[in-house]
Amino acid sequence: MCQTARVTIWNEFRHEKRPGKPQEIYPNGMHTVIADYLKQQTGIQVRTATLDEPDHGLTDDVLASTDVLIWWGHTAHGEVRDEIVDKVQKAVLDGMGLIVLHSGHFSKIFRRLMGTTCDLKWREIGEKERIWVIDPAHPIATGLPEYFEIPHEEMYGERFDIPQPDELVLVSWFAGGEVFRSGCCFHRGRGKIFYFRPGHESYPTFYQEEVLKVITNGVWWAAPEATTVPTFGHRDPIEDIKPSE
Ligand code: ZN
Repeated sequence: MCQTARVTIWNEFRHEKRPGKPQEIYPNGMHTVIADYLKQQTGIQVRTATLDEPDHGLTDDVLASTDVLIWWGHTAHGEVRDEIVDKVQKAVLDGMGLIVLHSGHFSKIFRRLMGTTCDLKWREIGEKERIWVIDPAHPIATGLPEYFEIPHEEMYGERFDIPQPDELVLVSWFAGGEVFRSGCCFHRGRGKIFYFRPGHESYPTFYQEEVLKVITNGVWWAAPEATTVPTFGHRDPIEDIKPSE
């Protein structure tokens, strides 16, 4: 495991700027609440970035010095410039970790990396969500109970139109009867991607210890190690061999 992880938390940060529930719960934005928790974790350095900053806060320098990018978006996916999406995709393929939260399932970057619609069923009546750990040996499950509950959340239900995850760590059950693959791991290029379902803006989900624990574990799982850098294209043989006739 890495000793340090430089994390950038990206938030669209629009819901929390308007009067209403999200602003009451997260007056300084969801990214700030997640940042405050991660800052307390040994070895994690935290920075935040938001949509309305120049280059959405994701300049070349920021991306080059980010080990793991956390992404929350919902109402303004379309405002994220394609040029920035291109750069984030390249960073992931080159090894940067990406954690996509909740409604980030419809972000340009997640859909691009998945190659599918990433569509799902949803309902917002504040029902209970029970999240089951189904891969207890997975690093993202470290320190979690067999299941934990979020008292009030938006429901996301299957089918979730994603490619088959490389590793499936968490599955949700909702009081209304649906189920959902809530903790999904993917590999793209040299990068690792973790999709984590909870985090609707109208509920205090990002203050809940288990949720923050999953995000922290996700950071350590997705952080790049000293990975081998592959090379591509034509080359001469390594061994001294003669071409066959
Ligand atoms: Zn939501």
